[in-house]
Amino acid sequence: MKNIYNFTQGDLGNYLLENNDKKYRADQIYEFLYKKRVKSFDEMINIGKKTIELLKNDFSMFKIKLILKQEDVNVKKYLFELIDGQRIESVLMIHDYGISICISSQVGCNMGCKFCESGRLKKVRNLEPYEMVEQILYIEEDIKKRITHIVIMGIGEPFDNYDNVMNFIKIVNNPKGIDIGSRHITISTCGIIPGIEKFINEPGQVNLAISLHAPNDKLREKIMPIAKVYKLNDLMDTIKKYIEKTNRRVTFEYIMLKDINDSKENAQELAKLLKGINCYVNLIPYNETENIEFRRTNNKDIMSFYDVLKKNKVNVTIRKEFGSKVDAACGQLRANQMIGG
Ligand code: SAH
Repeated sequence: MKNIYNFTQGDLGNYLLENNDKKYRADQIYEFLYKKRVKSFDEMINIGKKTIELLKNDFSMFKIKLILKQEDVNVKKYLFELIDGQRIESVLMIHDYGISICISSQVGCNMGCKFCESGRLKKVRNLEPYEMVEQILYIEEDIKKRITHIVIMGIGEPFDNYDNVMNFIKIVNNPKGIDIGSRHITISTCGIIPGIEKFINEPGQVNLAISLHAPNDKLREKIMPIAKVYKLNDLMDTIKKYIEKTNRRVTFEYIMLKDINDSKENAQELAKLLKGINCYVNLIPYNETENIEFRRTNNKDIMSFYDVLKKNKVNVTIRKEFGSKVDAACGQLRANQMIGG
């Protein structure tokens, strides 16, 4: 049985047509799902018994289950269980500019980044759109507020699950759906070039973030196996193409790992690499985990790195830290539940 939250409005309309129903009912169904937030098909009053029966026969809704919630100041972390018993997590963060949620796009991840908890647990499967949509619906109901920003930066590599992630974005972005503006949605990728190339041609203004983490191939390959497949030169060329076509600014994420990628020379090399590119760099203080040996760069060295970039006229920010008490690093909650670490 399909889940109704998998369906874009267009696909739902086509489904209705194929089943001798009226296409416009997709509008009404969307209204019930995303504006009225009904919990069952029976609550969809006024759309006709026949349509309700059709939906009840063919679709399910609300399948993810909360297993654990951790809270700290301005951050909440949710561990969800899916119908096959797999687990994923989402993190909610309260900022001065709004409320963002970091959602997972896969169960596990195959990219194998050495510093990342998600990568230790290999990919089991892709998430379907409904499993991403339900993360948002569940959390909005929990906090009784609307989420304003989405970052697809939780467990998984979104460009390794391209079509499902794009359908998810369509549902979220649709004014009749969850209605979050595309400029408030960010996809983060470790640099899968074919994914970025497809993404260049997508309509809308969804933001692109690239997990860079190193200014050259040699270093990058040490910490990110995917760097052996997609070389920095080619990656930068693709990003330039993206910027040219979309006129959008790209974010580069750079985790600060002590004695690995955090020297002033690294900063200089990074500035050179990014020279003339419409971007900004987000320096991320590494969130240490018990299971992985990497250490975080101390604040003084982060500031020195930051200063070198600033001096070289690179736009740079240091990511505000959330929830060191709540296993907030990507994949930590799930990993610790599974491994008992
Ligand atoms: N696969 C995608 C999205 C998921 S990872 C990507 O690579 O971008 C989201 C971000 O969290 C990436 O920049 C990743 O490198 C970073 N990350 C992973 N583990 C982290 C940790 N322990 N501390 C800080 N950032 C981490």
